[in-house]
Amino acid sequence: MITNNKLVLASANPGKIKELQQMLDQLGIEVIPQTELSIPDIEETGLSFVENSILKARNASALSGLPAIADDSGLEVDYLKGAPGIYSARFAGAEATDAGNRDKLLEQLAGVPAEQRTARYQTVIVYMRHASDPTPIICQGTWEGSIAIDEQGDGGFGYDPIFEVPETGCRAAELDKDRKNRLSHRGKAMAKLLLQLQTQ
Ligand code: IMP
Repeated sequence: MITNNKLVLASANPGKIKELQQMLDQLGIEVIPQTELSIPDIEETGLSFVENSILKARNASALSGLPAIADDSGLEVDYLKGAPGIYSARFAGAEATDAGNRDKLLEQLAGVPAEQRTARYQTVIVYMRHASDPTPIICQGTWEGSIAIDEQGDGGFGYDPIFEVPETGCRAAELDKDRKNRLSHRGKAMAKLLLQLQTQ
């Protein structure tokens, strides 16, 4: 249960903020991106999605005094033994852009046959009632797919133009936002979180 009708979203990624805000609409609470409160990103020093998600939620909650939701996510490519994984946002370097990350991934998979291009998006969403919450709610979501050989579509963000969705036979970037939210790792994790928040 969210008592003061406000929560802070611990992300500065516009693509993620848009998707999470849309999913949280149904709670009827004010969702404030941390950037609006001038809260800086915390360094992601964890070695897992869950550690990084907790770090982000705790940082946003400590600096805002509000409950916080964080999402730490990434793409695991089987041919690359799970890379880029937790480093997905910085795959092409510290100042990487989404386009730079996609180019680097396509380069590393050049010549790799379709059946070896399997991949999945992972996310861990954490909800913390306050910065020292000893029992944060932790929800995971996974979306299986594969990496195409070129880019298609202009929706979504990040790796979506090269992420092939088996359910639809198109790229994640070609799905409308409601369809992506129903199928995606983030949509699945958030559905679990909403259920928990509504039943607490
Ligand atoms: P984070 O901000 O450290 O969690 O980085 C997440 C990164 O994973 C993003 O910058 C994207 O590169 C990638 N990613 C996570 N979720 C998605 C998605 O839904 N679509 C495309 N890329 C995603």
